[in-house]
Amino acid sequence: MTFPDRITSIQGSIMQYIGGIDIGGTKMAVVIADSDGPLLRLTEPTAKEGSSRAPADQAIRMLRQACEQAGVPFSELKTVGVSSCGPFIKQNGLIELRTQNICGGIGNRGDLPNDWQTVPLEAVLREQFTNVHIENDCVAALAAERAFGALQGSDHCAYVTWSTGVGFGLCVDGVMLRGKNGNAGHAGHMLLSEQSLAQCGCGNIGDVEALASGRNLEIQHGRSAEELFNAVKDGDVKAHAAVIHAAQWFGRALYNVTATLDLQAFVIGGSIWHHHGDWLEPIVKNEICSRLPPLTAGVQLLRPALDAYVADIGALYLAMPPAWIGNWRVHALWQRIGDIETV
Ligand SMILES: [Zn+2]
Repeated sequence: MTFPDRITSIQGSIMQYIGGIDIGGTKMAVVIADSDGPLLRLTEPTAKEGSSRAPADQAIRMLRQACEQAGVPFSELKTVGVSSCGPFIKQNGLIELRTQNICGGIGNRGDLPNDWQTVPLEAVLREQFTNVHIENDCVAALAAERAFGALQGSDHCAYVTWSTGVGFGLCVDGVMLRGKNGNAGHAGHMLLSEQSLAQCGCGNIGDVEALASGRNLEIQHGRSAEELFNAVKDGDVKAHAAVIHAAQWFGRALYNVTATLDLQAFVIGGSIWHHHGDWLEPIVKNEICSRLPPLTAGVQLLRPALDAYVADIGALYLAMPPAWIGNWRVHALWQRIGDIETV
């Protein structure tokens, strides 16, 4: 696993507790853990009012509250990992969020109660914590699946989510790709067809997200992804064609990524795949494996082992001392997150 800055900054100190923060466009979750597994998890709607510090301040407040409830001294929590929706930009070397689902000052949706251009995430977290490790949510999910889940032992692989949006986390030669600002894997915004009228929230016309994501299927077809898929079940021919078309575009995106990076395996998560992957898989697989066999033969499509908790475990993994990892893997300690209290 290659997170050099994480390894060097954590090694040498004996840590008792770590914190994980999962920042989504709708929901924020925090979880604290010790060497024996997760201890307590809290969730709230993501803060979107007040100053642009609000989401980062919210994460700190929630972690303080989680520590109090778990009987952990907050002052002993010095290291946190963050799995966050992107994109990121850097200001003075520190990560800020510039995501359209949180920052009302970008895009033109007009449905957010703020005019933020960015959220100063890393700078605010560093006011409280000594070690802060932030990754894009798909990168964190990929790290977790490689450490504890379906991608153990795989050095050429990706985590893909097909849900409200489409995102990737990429690993080649055992190296997790991050890019200049931590945005490697935003392949959901690769352009596929400008013939299409489908527009993505990012502004692109005909990118993967525009053609296949749940949010954009709703915009294209005038009914939510759930309604669309229910109509397929009821035998609606138009809905069926729309969903098949989306799956083909999704599969072509996976083909493009396979051809570019020579990957061996994809773990596919996200609500659309979770609910419909069983019958969509042959369509997606055909789009990959019917092309260029030297590159695509044997490419595997796998289900996420960590599933609903992949973001929380991914965030914890980013903060985890190397000495804990083997134990968490052998004893599947991450699974305890399913048993602990979530408030
Ligand atoms: Zn886009």
